[in-house]
Amino acid sequence: MNSNNIVWTKGKFIKEDEACINIFSPSSQFGLNVFEGIRCYSSLDNSQLFFFRLDDHITRLYNSSTSIDLKIKMKKDDLKEKIIETIRKNQFKKDSIVRVIAYVDQKGSWTQKYDCEVVVLPRQYARAFENKSTIALNLSNWERININSMPPKIKAGANYINSRYAHLDAIKKGFDTALLLNNNGTISESTGSCIFMVKENNLVTPPLNSSILDSITRKTIIEIAKKINNLEVDVREIQKDEILNADEVFLCGTSIEVFPVSKINNAEYNSYKITNKIRDSYLSLVRGSYKEYYKWLTPIYV
Ligand code: PMP
Repeated sequence: MNSNNIVWTKGKFIKEDEACINIFSPSSQFGLNVFEGIRCYSSLDNSQLFFFRLDDHITRLYNSSTSIDLKIKMKKDDLKEKIIETIRKNQFKKDSIVRVIAYVDQKGSWTQKYDCEVVVLPRQYARAFENKSTIALNLSNWERININSMPPKIKAGANYINSRYAHLDAIKKGFDTALLLNNNGTISESTGSCIFMVKENNLVTPPLNSSILDSITRKTIIEIAKKINNLEVDVREIQKDEILNADEVFLCGTSIEVFPVSKINNAEYNSYKITNKIRDSYLSLVRGSYKEYYKWLTPIYV
């Protein structure tokens, strides 16, 4: 796919199609990279574009990179400026998503420590499961990676090989994607998103030690469910039979936002009442409807 988008990498703005990486690098061979997906949303009156929780995404990127001994040499504030500038250079004025990847661009072994490069790759308005209003999940036979194998709480490219096995297996069985159990046999997360269930008007979501990514959307929902929607949120382990008997289930993540689940294996969910309330609050918040959450919005145009 050809693209005229401008990306920032190795200190320069260049055309997306000109961005390249050393084929012998450990990023290319062993998936040694860490990354973030960060959304920007247009304001309610369309006069502004806001990054949502940009600082939190940048912090997680640096934590991920430290965790696997990749050193991002530039300062967080400088990267933040480059991310904002990339959207401006592309003159994006509508909802967009940016992928920021820290990668190694030199020949070498997976055993070495590296200083890494960063690429900022923007896309106009890409939405997961764009043509669907609900999705069906396969409770996978694949187990989620765990803290003693590959820490799922960091966003490393190689973690997605685990997601890929589960996702492709789910597709083969006629589902949209998978839901994975962790090595304790409790509910973990989906292939690229976290999960909530609704039981008697309370929200429940697994804790970080259920082998999940420390999702920024999940943290946002935990806060807004209480403060905006006046709902209780329990962060606790979820057993398989509990989620199969839940009133509602939804996925959440930067890309998928808040997405209703219609099925897990043979269990069907017909109510989306609470899910829709959470989705409405989330999608209004990211566009600047709540003054108390301006702290999470970074305006792109001055
Ligand atoms: N879990 C996984 C495995 C993911 O890839 C994502 C998407 N980043 C999430 C959860 C949701 O995280 P966030 O809300 O920070 O995007």
